[in-house]
Amino acid sequence: MKKYMALMGAAMFGVVCFSLYLMMESASMNQSRYTDLGKDEVDVIDSKIHQIEADLQKNHKSIDVIKEVVGQLAQGDSRALEKLKNALDIEVHGDAPVPSRIKPNITAISRNVVRVPEGMCSFAETPPAGTDVQMLNVFDHIPFDNPNGGVWKQGFPISYDVSTWQDKPLKVILVPHSHCDPGWIKTFEAYYRDQVRHILNNMVTKLEADSSRKFMYAEISFFSRWWQELDESMKGRVRRLVKSGQFEIVTGGWVMNDEAVSHYSAMIDQMIEGHQWLEHELGVKPKSGWAIDPFGHSPTMAYFLKRMGLKNMLIQRVHYSVKKYLAQTKNLEFLWRQNWDHDGSTDMFCHMMPFYSYDVPHTCGPDPKICCQYDFKRLPGGRVTCPWRVPPVPITNNNVAQKAEILLDQYRKKASLYRNNVVLVILGDDFRYDKPEEWENQFGNYKKLFDYMNAKPDWHVQAQFGTLSDYFDALRERAGTEADDTPTGYPRLAGDFFTYADRDDHYWSGYFTSRPFYKHLDRVAESNLRKAEVLYSLATALSRKQASSTFPASAMLEKIIVARRSLALFQHHDAITGTGKDHVVIDYANMILNGMQNCKTVISVCAHYLLAKDKSQYAHDPSTLYFDVDEQRVAQDSLPQKTVIKLLPEPRTVILYNSLSQERSDIVRLYVSEPFVEVKDPLGNVVQTQTDLFWMNNEESSSDIYKVSFVAQVPALGLSKYTIRKVQEGTNPSATFPVIVMYNAQSTTSITRGPFKIFRKITEEFSIENSDMKVQFSNGGMIKSITTVKDGQVNQVQVQFVKYGTINAKEKSGAYLFLPNGPAQNIDVGNPFIRVVQGALMSEVHVFIPHVEHTVRVCNSPGTSGSSVGIHNIVDIRGESNYEIAMRLMTDIQNSDGQFFTDLNGFQMQKRKMQRKLPLQANFYPISTMAYIQDGQSRFSVMTAQSLGGSSLKTGWLEVVLDRRLMQDDNRGLMQGVKDNKRTDYQFRILLERKLSDAKPLPTQPMGYPSLLGQMSSLDLLHPMHIIPQSQHVTTLTPLEPQYSALTADLPCELHFLNLRTLQIAEGDFTPSQTAALLVHRFAFDCSYPAYGFKCSISGGQFTLEGMLKSPRITKATSTSLSLMYDSHNVDLTTAVQIHPMEINAYKVHLS
Ligand SMILES: [Zn+2]
Repeated sequence: MKKYMALMGAAMFGVVCFSLYLMMESASMNQSRYTDLGKDEVDVIDSKIHQIEADLQKNHKSIDVIKEVVGQLAQGDSRALEKLKNALDIEVHGDAPVPSRIKPNITAISRNVVRVPEGMCSFAETPPAGTDVQMLNVFDHIPFDNPNGGVWKQGFPISYDVSTWQDKPLKVILVPHSHCDPGWIKTFEAYYRDQVRHILNNMVTKLEADSSRKFMYAEISFFSRWWQELDESMKGRVRRLVKSGQFEIVTGGWVMNDEAVSHYSAMIDQMIEGHQWLEHELGVKPKSGWAIDPFGHSPTMAYFLKRMGLKNMLIQRVHYSVKKYLAQTKNLEFLWRQNWDHDGSTDMFCHMMPFYSYDVPHTCGPDPKICCQYDFKRLPGGRVTCPWRVPPVPITNNNVAQKAEILLDQYRKKASLYRNNVVLVILGDDFRYDKPEEWENQFGNYKKLFDYMNAKPDWHVQAQFGTLSDYFDALRERAGTEADDTPTGYPRLAGDFFTYADRDDHYWSGYFTSRPFYKHLDRVAESNLRKAEVLYSLATALSRKQASSTFPASAMLEKIIVARRSLALFQHHDAITGTGKDHVVIDYANMILNGMQNCKTVISVCAHYLLAKDKSQYAHDPSTLYFDVDEQRVAQDSLPQKTVIKLLPEPRTVILYNSLSQERSDIVRLYVSEPFVEVKDPLGNVVQTQTDLFWMNNEESSSDIYKVSFVAQVPALGLSKYTIRKVQEGTNPSATFPVIVMYNAQSTTSITRGPFKIFRKITEEFSIENSDMKVQFSNGGMIKSITTVKDGQVNQVQVQFVKYGTINAKEKSGAYLFLPNGPAQNIDVGNPFIRVVQGALMSEVHVFIPHVEHTVRVCNSPGTSGSSVGIHNIVDIRGESNYEIAMRLMTDIQNSDGQFFTDLNGFQMQKRKMQRKLPLQANFYPISTMAYIQDGQSRFSVMTAQSLGGSSLKTGWLEVVLDRRLMQDDNRGLMQGVKDNKRTDYQFRILLERKLSDAKPLPTQPMGYPSLLGQMSSLDLLHPMHIIPQSQHVTTLTPLEPQYSALTADLPCELHFLNLRTLQIAEGDFTPSQTAALLVHRFAFDCSYPAYGFKCSISGGQFTLEGMLKSPRITKATSTSLSLMYDSHNVDLTTAVQIHPMEINAYKVHLS
């Protein structure tokens, strides 16, 4: 009977509303007659009418729901009862006064302040070692006027004096190679099947046919794929070619990684994966780095190659004007020194190629028309031709004299750009040497040319086939340097080679953002892999002590290796860059997703094992996983769905995992089925919670999903067991519920939904705050300013979304290039719907503007999340064409001289300078984890959870490009636009820091350092606390310890536990080795800003390996190079180890 009453009630309400509506409608119809009615009053009446209309519509909907439910009830559907209850639960109080200031009780949170002892900041305070070429100054110096240089269009005419080679003949090293992209136009597997295996098969027979022939190869992903198909005799032949020096592996990474958007930990990982494979299968250690195709070059890569034990490196894609400048000063070969280097220990010998491209027309010398005639794959009748319309001809006795002389002229000109009369000429291109004829044509014709040249003593030339290391060896010999020593007589250069332009104003700053969905997915997967690696290594070591253990060590390692290789592959310069074809992108993403799901399983299994009280009783059953994963993605292109924990009156266990090396007290948010909950910490104390509604759309919330937040305390590198259960309403005094205010809502009525009060108000300015800061918003729902509560100082910080179009010219923006049609335009947000949720632990503002669901979050937390403002955007530009959307932050920070700082690979901060002489797109740089601007008082930082392009175009501004949808190819070989945009989520933190009054002035230097708080906030963003909920169907668990920490004590603030990676015994064997690689990174930081929100001390980078881990312990350690190729010495476990600032130390450790 009751339900029919409800139905009647609702119907009556509808009638009343309708009558009211008619009255208002007639009033508005007659409006024109009341001419003296003020405009404001008319507007108010008008808006009221709209609201009544909306209410009416909504009530019709409610009535429909009630009708439907009644129908379902009649059919005996018990779930309908719950639905009806919710529909009737809403207490409407349209007339109730809306409080003018709605503010929850915010508990003052005390944050731990980290004291920096005297002298611990000397690194940032001391100027770095000097250099001869500083790239930051080079950019000031170069006019970027792009004059026509003749045959070498971007350079200058080269002349030489033949007497140069009188005493020391010109040495020519011709290096045949094939550049194989592990995925680009085709997928990895399709390239392997169609080309790569033929290239490598040919390599063996064609090199064996003539011992003067040479070849080199870089990508271990392909090489290992090929290796799987070889029989033992073939493997033996390959090993012999390697041993004889005819075949060289260069770099030896899994891929030739991108250097702009890849994160340093993934760069190291992909190198370790390749080098470990080489150690197991070939027994070789690469000597030279080879990066001919990444779109710009980072000094981070030079540092890594140096610390991995490589002796030389080569780079190619550098801005044409920079190449010209370095060529004019004979500085194309240099010792690449890190900006932060204090003692010259990072110098890495680097060769920069001088011309436009790595193809044959641009490698023999300055004239592409001539060089193309020496690419014998382009002989007439083949598929490739010379665009300069002079094809190559076969070398014969009749033409060899003339042909050799012309070629030598090119070699001599190229040699004139370098210092030591050795010239490197590479002979190859993408996927070359897949056909036997190509081998014969290239090697056969060059042999004739070289035989002729070498037989002419008055030409003073020695030409030969060689590998990259042959070139560097010859150069050292000429420089009088011992093998493997750093060559002398070369300039020291510091800085980076972004942003790359290959011609005109074609800057490759588009790919810093292209396919941001996958750039984000990559980071999430990387964090999961690191978490899985560390927990797995700890759990496996402990399981070895338990003879009866059923811990699935091999099965889990197999899962981890799948994840390692999928992420290693994705660091390729056409993968993470977003420059592959649509189907290739999907192929990568499916691999990453599979690997990530593997890691989540490993984390759940290992966390359970590590917390198990009695490990001998631990029984692994793959069909029953006791713990679930935190979230899942249904497909490679979908956003994650959080696991909703079904709550019962009996407590459910949730394990929280902190993968960082310091204890964390920060807010954790669970998705649960009930609003009234009780959360207990590992000691059994009830903790304060905040329950939030889960919104299905703007104004409707779910009745079976809620979000519960609480401050969790989890030890360093450790696990904490929390429990959560459903309780009766009003029985948990520690439970809090937020107050919700909506602006520009459909309805005007304020309602109470269970414990939630929802007010609907007319647009106004408002603020949210925690005990540290107050964030003010405009009536459009965007941040206006931030006030630091302690000093009451206000900083203007305006958030704006802007759009770029594409230039109105033949060549437009695409996957690689950013060619905007002028400055960005503001996106008109109109009167957006705004939802403000204010709670005791967390307050959020949700604004729904065109293309963006923008959330700003302020946490009242003792952790780092309480010191910064969180920004979460969900962006969807699928309906737009030739459109790029950016988030711009406009502050009143007075950064002088257009200076701003962006990170390189999350490893170091590079100073940038807005260059007015360059086009807009040239001033965009990769932002991999962080960017900041600063003045004498404050620093304003943006931390990002994914790589994006960004810039500071005006004083006080920082902006990041969020997504780009481009309808056309940009003529760099991809042959398609970027139209596969997704709904993409982005996480940022913004941090406003005030300089300490006693901060020491820092020397003027070309780089910067993050503050300690900035560094910790970035780590928190990249490695959020991991939630491991008890599986739905599991009712009982074997007893668990309340907590586990791997560390004896927290590591010092400046040390980051980068990885603990269990090694493989052999390729294809998943038995875990007893050895794991431990990588510890010491940050350098700027001490000018206060450090608070985390607990740690500063030790000057010191620790002992014996004292580091508690359970398991380190029982043996060997110091090793960064990719584990060169072991140096056994480390005395009890002696303090010292890591220098910025450095990463690697150890091979035994755990037991
Ligand atoms: Zn490539």
